[in-house]
Amino acid sequence: MTYDFLVIGSGPGGYVAAIRAAQLGLSTAVVEKEERFGGTCLNIGCIPSKALLDSSELYARLCQRDGHDISAHGIKIGKLELDLKAMMARKQQVVEKLTSGVDQLFKGIGIRTFRGTGRITAAGKVEVSAPEGRKQTLSARNIVLATGSVPATLPIFPTGKDGFLTSTEALSLKNVPGKMAVIGAGAIGLELGSVWARLGAEVTVIELLDQILPGMDSEISRRTRSILVKQGFQILTGARVLGYEKAGKSASGKAGKTAGGKSAAGGVILTAEDRGSKKQQVPADVVLLAVGRRPYTEDLGLAELGIKTEEGSGRIIVDGGFQTSLAGVYAIGDLIPGPMLAHKAEEEGMAVAEIAAGKPGEVNYRTIPSVVYTWPEVASVGKSEEALKEQGVEYRKGAFPFRANGRAVAMSSEEGLVKILADSRTDRVLGVHIVGPWASDLIAEAVTVMEFGGSAEDIARTVHAHPTLPEAVREAALAVDGRAIHVLGRKKS
Ligand SMILES: Cc1cc2nc3c(=O)[nH]c(=O)nc-3n(C[C@H](O)[C@H](O)[C@H](O)COP(=O)(O)OP(=O)(O)OC[C@H]3O[C@@H](n4cnc5c(N)ncnc54)[C@H](O)[C@@H]3O)c2cc1C
Repeated sequence: MTYDFLVIGSGPGGYVAAIRAAQLGLSTAVVEKEERFGGTCLNIGCIPSKALLDSSELYARLCQRDGHDISAHGIKIGKLELDLKAMMARKQQVVEKLTSGVDQLFKGIGIRTFRGTGRITAAGKVEVSAPEGRKQTLSARNIVLATGSVPATLPIFPTGKDGFLTSTEALSLKNVPGKMAVIGAGAIGLELGSVWARLGAEVTVIELLDQILPGMDSEISRRTRSILVKQGFQILTGARVLGYEKAGKSASGKAGKTAGGKSAAGGVILTAEDRGSKKQQVPADVVLLAVGRRPYTEDLGLAELGIKTEEGSGRIIVDGGFQTSLAGVYAIGDLIPGPMLAHKAEEEGMAVAEIAAGKPGEVNYRTIPSVVYTWPEVASVGKSEEALKEQGVEYRKGAFPFRANGRAVAMSSEEGLVKILADSRTDRVLGVHIVGPWASDLIAEAVTVMEFGGSAEDIARTVHAHPTLPEAVREAALAVDGRAIHVLGRKKS
């Protein structure tokens, strides 16, 4: 048969596209090379990392680490033990529950699935090579490429050797490393660094650029950095890792001068250089390379069919309707330009299915939130202050600290703030940036308001339940006009 809609890859982009296409009555098939559906996100990305972040945060609280004081709640704790094997088993159960959920959704809505590596051989034709070597060719009117991304590596470092890891291995370590170096201070580096730091590792993060979370509003980035440093992170910014040597040779002898103060038990010694050419040695039992991800286009047959990709990034070039340079072939998710985020992939999946069904699918790229699941969390949507200044946009700023929010105080989670940037002339919300408890949930209100083209005044005049964390968002909106209630601001009008 000829399918209406055939998707290669079952990550959040691919599986959402397939389900939406089936909802719209298109005969739909999915080709996936791995045993389980769900892609990077469900198997080795968003979900297992959050399972470990939740487990490790619970452990850190019970250990009274990172400023947590359980005894102040009137709870006495005896001897605590970490069972890493059980923690990993729980993570795996979470992964299996959600990936089998995708399988059930596919079956329930009548999507045909094929296990194997998909390759486009001609317009409308996909060859599927099953793991056991059998090949078959499928026909489709619309083909969607959703093969995602894989970790980027640096040529000077080996992966899978001498303790160098990608995020995939860092999600499944069998022991808590004594010292962990993380190269790259983006979301993945800080999240996985947090997991292992909470479980007891000494973590040093090395970032080439001058701030952690590059691209993030710099006030929020600075605040996050100081919170992480209080939690015990060593953070080197503006620092380039030049190379490494195996510890044990000469490196452990210099241990007293190293960033962590102690020598690594085996592992490696990294040499980092700052902007002033000052060198620093960083010992590490394991080194997490968190330097970004690259689109995974291997074996897809792009070059043979002349499907165009961006020079340098390798991302597939698409038009406003996600169509590649080959008619009838579309691409979505991490494969195409834009933030490499699961919800961005999902939105594109919905849109491409709607377009294939003759509907007007689209994605509003101005309101894609991004979240870093450290504790406290960091979340943002829209423009940073730096971007607004650069673009010459006049804006007003309202900020509100969580230490003045009743619920945050009751939770003993007072660190951080909400910051709202609104157009000076129209009051339209241009950006919202949060570091604080459950920022991942709080950002949703900001996204909705921005999606509706709403103003800071709209948020300020909306009733928020008390006592809740979202009241901090409302207070930041009131602060845009200088009339926040629970902090002293400028004179109210
Ligand atoms: C550690 C980590 C944590 C993350 N946390 C978050 C988070 O909290 N929030 C967030 O928004 N994003 C997060 N991400 C990013 C998120 O996982 C990706 O943006 C998202 O998975 C991209 O979805 P996708 O559908 O484009 O591709 P993927 O999820 O990468 O899925 C691609 C699928 O295609 C399959 N495939 C590849 N080639 C072929 C082929 N030729 N034939 C058949 N199948 C093929 C792959 O096996 C895979 O299943 C995280 C990533 C990592 C690594």
